[in-house]
Amino acid sequence: MTVLTVPEPDVNSSTAIPSYDIAIVGGGIAGATLACGLRDTGLQVVVIEAQPQEQALQRQRAYALSVLSSRIFTGLGVWEQLRSQIAAFRQIRLSDADYPGIVGFAPPDLQTEHLGYVGEHGAICRPLYDAIAAAENINWCGPARVEAVTYDDTGALLTVQAAEGQQAIRARLVVGADGPNSPLRQRAQIPTQGWKYWQSCITFTIRHQHPCNDTAFERFWYGGPMGVLPLTGNRCQIVWTAPHAEAQDLLKMSANEFLARLNTRIGSLLPGIELASDRLLFPVQLMQSDRYSQERLVLVGDAAHCCHPVGGQGLNLGIRDAAALAEVLIHAHQQGEDIGAQAVLKRYERWRRPENWVILGFTDLLDRVFSSRWWPVIGIRRVGLLLLAKVPLLKKVALRLMTGLLGRQPQVAKLQS
Ligand SMILES: Cc1cc2nc3c(=O)[nH]c(=O)nc-3n(C[C@H](O)[C@H](O)[C@H](O)COP(=O)(O)OP(=O)(O)OC[C@H]3O[C@@H](n4cnc5c(N)ncnc54)[C@H](O)[C@@H]3O)c2cc1C
Repeated sequence: MTVLTVPEPDVNSSTAIPSYDIAIVGGGIAGATLACGLRDTGLQVVVIEAQPQEQALQRQRAYALSVLSSRIFTGLGVWEQLRSQIAAFRQIRLSDADYPGIVGFAPPDLQTEHLGYVGEHGAICRPLYDAIAAAENINWCGPARVEAVTYDDTGALLTVQAAEGQQAIRARLVVGADGPNSPLRQRAQIPTQGWKYWQSCITFTIRHQHPCNDTAFERFWYGGPMGVLPLTGNRCQIVWTAPHAEAQDLLKMSANEFLARLNTRIGSLLPGIELASDRLLFPVQLMQSDRYSQERLVLVGDAAHCCHPVGGQGLNLGIRDAAALAEVLIHAHQQGEDIGAQAVLKRYERWRRPENWVILGFTDLLDRVFSSRWWPVIGIRRVGLLLLAKVPLLKKVALRLMTGLLGRQPQVAKLQS
């Protein structure tokens, strides 16, 4: 893979400052997906990423990918390579603590072959990075950190700190794909709404001896949900949500104590479990930016919004943002419009912000309703689960919402690779 450490200068530029149409700040999965969506469009793009690629590929994270994300990656031509490295699940089992009723979802409920996929960070990033490296109109600038940005009427000047020293890059449009603490969003003083949850998540991988590994489990406990997501090679990624203090205790426990505690939760589902990774702790927040764009700046992925990890939605929203923004920018470019103009960027914002609100609200509601010990709420959620199990239409709507198939779908999701 070719990785440029210094962007190639625009030879036509009198100032000798490298000049691009679009500078994507952040080469995480949202930023890399956007870059892939802008391949072969005639737009000159630079991706500026603070982490070395090899380090980013080692990130110990795994994510549930929705059916819509798989269709977007198919349209981008990276799915074949990606699919060979990740697991698929055909069943979802939803349950409420020790209540015996279980709601099961299967492929006929969605009329798809699989209900979702689970991939590790490196497995998802690698095909995106390979596609970017092969694209003639995209440069990768990294490891390099954007330290400052000044905006003017026609574009922005970015100050970038790389190992070789400081350099300037000019772009007509800056994309903030720089994660939940987005320095770009903060410097632009874009306000956000939201809150920190009373819970943290512990994520880790286990190995198990169950012969079948095609089921994703989401079980709600009073302290928070526990998601069990199948990975390749009889492994599962577990996302264990618990109140902050309990999560800290779980992190500090010896591996044996931790496994014993874990067995009380999932021992009946997956026999013979052993830890296969470190345990990592993540505080959880809900965050929505008041706006996703202003003249010359637009936000995607966690830079724009964050949600509770229940149901594995956050990254999928970021992938949809990236596909939607690519579509809006390509169309504007083809029409001869200024891609950094507020009028263009607002089209993306009007598309994605309301859809993201729905998922932010839905995941928040799930967490609150299923954590409640108040008996009327317990009654309501058990009736809800019963209805979900018995009413096929309700099941279908819930499944389509969580797999991204209910909202407006980007054109790229309708293309074949
Ligand atoms: C416990 C937990 C479990 C989750 N599970 C799921 C799941 O199953 N499915 C799902 O869809 N989502 C899940 N999520 C959400 C998911 O992790 C995030 O939505 C996703 O990682 C965000 O990707 P991103 O590319 O927007 O941001 P990031 O992954 O944060 O990438 C931002 C990038 O920007 C770079 N950067 C930052 N500042 C600069 C700068 N100044 N200059 C240059 N580069 C910079 C960083 O190095 C980084 O690479 C989960 C979240 C948590 C907390």
